[in-house]
Amino acid sequence: MPFHVLILGGTTEARQLAAELVADPDLRVTSSLAGRVAEPRLPAGEVRIGGFGGPAGLAAWLREHRVDALVDATHPFAAGISRNAAEAAAEAGVPLLALRRPGWASVAGDDWHPVGSLPEAAQALPGLGRRIFLTTGRQGLGHFAHLRRLFFLARSVDAPEAPLPPDLTVLLDRGPFTLDGELAVLREHRIEVLVTKDSGGAATAPKLAAARELDLPVVVVRRPEPPAGLPTAPDVAGAVAWLAARPGR
Ligand code: NAP
Repeated sequence: MPFHVLILGGTTEARQLAAELVADPDLRVTSSLAGRVAEPRLPAGEVRIGGFGGPAGLAAWLREHRVDALVDATHPFAAGISRNAAEAAAEAGVPLLALRRPGWASVAGDDWHPVGSLPEAAQALPGLGRRIFLTTGRQGLGHFAHLRRLFFLARSVDAPEAPLPPDLTVLLDRGPFTLDGELAVLREHRIEVLVTKDSGGAATAPKLAAARELDLPVVVVRRPEPPAGLPTAPDVAGAVAWLAARPGR
């Protein structure tokens, strides 16, 4: 029986990890996607799509499919599935690793305004500027819907749904992005403030350099607390090493 790894995915790192693991004939690799994106980039190996039905559903899935190790490689802001993973892994007795890319750090020349949530970001905006570039994803735009005097440019993979701010332009696109491309977007829409989650990683980082170059304030939403006490790897290599050290490999 091959050693079965379940990767909770939806991120670049999750796809990179799956691509690396499928090359090992002693492994069976399954990736799980939430099913939020209409046309997701599919990882290598087996893929299942859709929620498990809470921690109990995930624990049942782990048992039924004889999962030997679980890697939570979901986005740092996907706090619900990470909590479920911790609970389900403990219940099913399956070792769990959190693969978490480090957050971004500000550098000289940055004008960052850290906030704890999207509602806090919305509160901060009227004092910072009138033309806002929202890069926080399609979900949660409703937190900005009451800001009727501000112009919003919102970038997301799929079109957002109501409630939405009244003066909104949607840019359908997905990373990786380039510095030149980000500068062009900021200039074309005469953006005065950038809003981002502290997602970390290289694919969406050029917007931060672009904002620095144009002297724009950046509202940075801090990460939610991850479940405590889990082994954590900052990158794919760390996850591969953790898996290699599991008993039964
Ligand atoms: P979430 O709030 O943490 O999770 C909500 C529910 O969605 C979970 O309880 C689970 O449903 C289901 N779910 C989430 N991720 C799943 C996965 N990989 N496989 C199966 N079910 C999953 O999640 P979210 O913030 O909406 O993010 C959804 C997905 O998008 C994640 O996989 C994440 O990696 C990716 N993503 C999120 C963000 C972000 O900013 N939040 C950005 C980029 C990518 P059940 O309880 O029914 O199991």
